[in-house]
Amino acid sequence: MGATALALGASAFAQSTSPAPAPEATSASALQQVPGYYQQAIGTLRVTALFDGVVQLPRSQIQGLTPAAIDALLQRRYVPESPRGLQTAVNAYLVHIGGRRVLVDAGTADCFGPGLGQVIANLQAAGVSPAQVDDVLLTHAHPDHLCGVVGADGARAFPNATLWLDDTELRYWEGPEAEARTPQALRFVVGQARRALAPYQAAGRLRSFKPGDAGLPAGIQALASPGHTPGHTSYLIDGGDAQKLLVWGDVVHYHVVQFARPSASFEADVDRVRAIASRRQLLAQAARAGWWVAGAHLPFPGLGHVRAEGAAYAWVPAEFSPLPAARR
Ligand SMILES: [Zn+2]
Repeated sequence: MGATALALGASAFAQSTSPAPAPEATSASALQQVPGYYQQAIGTLRVTALFDGVVQLPRSQIQGLTPAAIDALLQRRYVPESPRGLQTAVNAYLVHIGGRRVLVDAGTADCFGPGLGQVIANLQAAGVSPAQVDDVLLTHAHPDHLCGVVGADGARAFPNATLWLDDTELRYWEGPEAEARTPQALRFVVGQARRALAPYQAAGRLRSFKPGDAGLPAGIQALASPGHTPGHTSYLIDGGDAQKLLVWGDVVHYHVVQFARPSASFEADVDRVRAIASRRQLLAQAARAGWWVAGAHLPFPGLGHVRAEGAAYAWVPAEFSPLPAARR
C-alpha cells in the first residue's frame, strides 16, 4: 500500500460517521481466552482436556544437556518464553468411561497464584459439575496436580468422588521423607499436599493402590512411572476398538527437549535416573502400541501420539476434530 492510499484510507476513516469500534483488551473480559476445554473421542471413551493455566519453566532447570544443545532444540520451535521461563501448560483430563466420570489430576486451584486454577471453571464450561465426578485419579501429589481437589474453603471440591493415589506416593507425602528430600525453598508443597488429602481421608474417600491392582475404577490400569516423585503413576485406559489412552503426569516437562532427548531431565525430579528410565519406557510403549497420550504439561490440549524417530521421539498433537455421533 502506497503513501497516497494510506492517506486516503486515513481521511476516509476520519470522515466516517459509523461509531468507533468498542475498545478491546482493556477490560478483564477482553483478556479472557475462550473456555479451556477440548473433547476427543477415543474408542468408546470421551476425553475432555481441561486447561488449568500455564507456568514458566526456566531453561536452566533442564539437566543433562549443555546449554548449547538446549538452545539448538528450542531454536525455531517458537515456544512462548518470558524472562521467567518457557511456557508450560498445566492440564487435567476428564474421562467418560462406561457410566463413570473419572478425572485425572485436578490442577493448581490457588496454590500457584493468579492466572491458574481454571480446571473447575473449564469443567463447568464443558457441562459437568464437580458433584458429577465419581473418581479423581492422581498421577502424584505435587500442588499443580493435587491442589484442585479442595476449594478455597479447604473442603472437598469433588464431594462425591473417591480420591485415588499410589500407595508409595501416599506414604512418601505422609512420612518424614517428603520434607527431607524437598529443598527448603519448596518445602511448602508438603503442607499443600497434606492439606489437600486430609478432607478426603477424613471422609473415608481416599484410596491408595499398588501398581497392577485390579481395583481401580472402570478397569483402569495404573502404570508405575517413578522418578519425578517416588510413586508417580500413569494410567492406561482401554477405549475398546483397539484404542488405548495413556494419561501421564510429569513424564515430560519440556516437550521440545525431552521427546528428542529423553535423557534430559527436570531439576525438580526427586530421582532423575528413575525419571529418565520411566520416560524412556513410556515413550517406547506408547510409540510401539500407537496409544493415545494425554500429558499434564504438554501444550494444551496435550492429546496426541508419540512417534519413534530412531533412538528419539516426536510429539504428534491431535488434530481438531468433530465428535462422532453417539453410538446406539
Ligand atoms: Zn506437574
